[in-house]
Amino acid sequence: MPDQSQPSATEPGASGSVAARLAVVRDRIAAAAVAAGRDPAEVRLLVATKTQTPEAVLEALAAGVDLIGENRVQELVAKAPAVADRVAAGALQVHMIGHLQRNKINQVLATATGLETLDSLELAQAVSDRCVRNGRTGDHALDVMVQVNVTGEESKYGVRPDDAVPLAIAAAALPGLRLTGFMTIGARLPDPTGDGAADDGSAEDAVRAGFARLRAVRDEVRASGAPGTSAAVNLSMGMTGDLELAIAEGATIVRVGTAVFGPRVTATTL
Ligand SMILES: *Cc1c(COP(=O)(O)O)cnc(C)c1O
Repeated sequence: MPDQSQPSATEPGASGSVAARLAVVRDRIAAAAVAAGRDPAEVRLLVATKTQTPEAVLEALAAGVDLIGENRVQELVAKAPAVADRVAAGALQVHMIGHLQRNKINQVLATATGLETLDSLELAQAVSDRCVRNGRTGDHALDVMVQVNVTGEESKYGVRPDDAVPLAIAAAALPGLRLTGFMTIGARLPDPTGDGAADDGSAEDAVRAGFARLRAVRDEVRASGAPGTSAAVNLSMGMTGDLELAIAEGATIVRVGTAVFGPRVTATTL
């Protein structure tokens, strides 16, 4: 990735407000879209709020953010009161972007408007059942995406690309779910702040190949014509370090945390 596309906002100690960093991120998204011959309006920014305080989240919302994502149910629930008014008004969507255990489905349904991490038929069935019981079907069904592990790394959640197609088709047919697309976490790029052996581009090629794989899964599911699959248009892929590559491969949602808030102080606490 060209150096000039890595703004100082991603470096430790970067100064500036959340609003200023957001402007930089939006510029990066727009520039990447244009470079890919795409309309910038096709790419939506999801702000990843893990470890951030409710105050920091509200700063982002005040700067126009209308889609946020949480990784942990505990944080999702803790921040829900701060954003409830906006969610109720339809001005904000909240996606669960971390792994979901079945015993926490109720908490997610109470606070999130979408789930990007569907990774098994059992989970899909359980979430759908709960939605149906709550009267959430048809237009009120829960927006879901299937999480695909495009890199095959064992440390990552998500289904294998080959398993994603049948899972998506099955999920799309469930009455409590509305399949809106697919999500993945790209292969790790070398640290751009490291002493960096000259990058020959092969790492970027691997990241792009993974994103292209997600696009192929989406296209295959849509081409199936199976019930409920026509709404599965989204590709949620790309983060602070690789959003340009994701947009080049067709991302419709990029999930960005570090470039918006600065480096996370801790990865585990609120
Ligand atoms: C943290 C996180 C992001 C954002 O990552 P950054 O590198 O901070 O932009 C995106 N997606 C998921 C699933 C995450 O956990």
